[in-house]
Amino acid sequence: MTQPVRVLVTGGAGFVGSHVVWALHDRGDEVVVYDNLRQGHREALPTSVELVEAELADETTLDATLGRGRWDGVLHFAALSLVGESMQRPFHYLTENGGLGIRLIDACVRHKVGRFILSSTAALFGNPETLPITETTRIDPGSPYGESKLMIERTLYWADRIHRLRYACLRYFNAAGADADGRSGEDHRPETHLIPLVIDAALGLRPEITVFGNDYPTPDGTCIRDYVHVSDLAQAHLAALAKLQDGSVTYNLGSGTGNSVLEVIRSVERVSGRSVPMRVVGRRPGDPAVLVASSELIRSQTGWAPRFTQLDDIVASALAWRRRNPNGYGNAA
Ligand code: UDP
Repeated sequence: MTQPVRVLVTGGAGFVGSHVVWALHDRGDEVVVYDNLRQGHREALPTSVELVEAELADETTLDATLGRGRWDGVLHFAALSLVGESMQRPFHYLTENGGLGIRLIDACVRHKVGRFILSSTAALFGNPETLPITETTRIDPGSPYGESKLMIERTLYWADRIHRLRYACLRYFNAAGADADGRSGEDHRPETHLIPLVIDAALGLRPEITVFGNDYPTPDGTCIRDYVHVSDLAQAHLAALAKLQDGSVTYNLGSGTGNSVLEVIRSVERVSGRSVPMRVVGRRPGDPAVLVASSELIRSQTGWAPRFTQLDDIVASALAWRRRNPNGYGNAA
């Protein structure tokens, strides 16, 4: 799909969503964002992009928005996204993520939207038996969060079989970094992700980083994750959107490299030139020891490849954004 397209992006004001919005905007697509701004930020978006500030559960507004002319695609990012919280509130996650995702797909079919991209997750794989994780690795969500994304993936399968809705399920591993031009970055409230927390510890914005366990069966005892730059993820969405011309796809999206928690801390120290105060505490429930993706399928089928292959470069872009926005959006330094 090389022509400009008109797309609706749910959750487009969030971390990954806003980077995808910028990528679409940069190539001249018409983008409308649908976001309740509970986690998202208006300032993360290009000023020219229309924002429909509404709940996904608000069927009247959703229907009215989808009824406004022809949409080439819907990109669905809006979601609750904390694995730990989903273990406390399983039904909330299953209805808010799974249930509302299913209703959105139903609405897309009614409004004859041809293409759908789902922001899916490595959390589908629980504690995988083999590494790296491919698209054929056994699915076994370790949490209601992962299960809620699986509900949407399965619904898309049926929407394609019965209604010919073309879909791409993009299973992200650990999204990190920030837009190279500083237009968007990571600002979760509260922040729970490793890289922004380690950066804040380096900058003195928090006293220390707590390391969740150093007794895992890994070389240094801390968990290994596959950190992928958010702008590389954004480019993968463009590649997937084009690929939908040939049919529906499901891709794992990572950098293919694993880094431990201690390696992330060392990287932040190198890049920032500051030492990071740290304290080892107990394991966080539900954390698998190692999650590393194989992204061979999307590479071979679309030519996509991550531009940020070094952890230090991912960290440097996140650090630059945080230095400019020490209090997050709306409070620039
Ligand atoms: N982690 C940590 N301390 C923190 C936050 C995260 O040790 O304050 C670890 C966490 O246990 C996991 C890794 O860092 O092994 C990445 O966690 P994050 O929450 O960023 O992403 P997840 O892999 O859970 O999606």
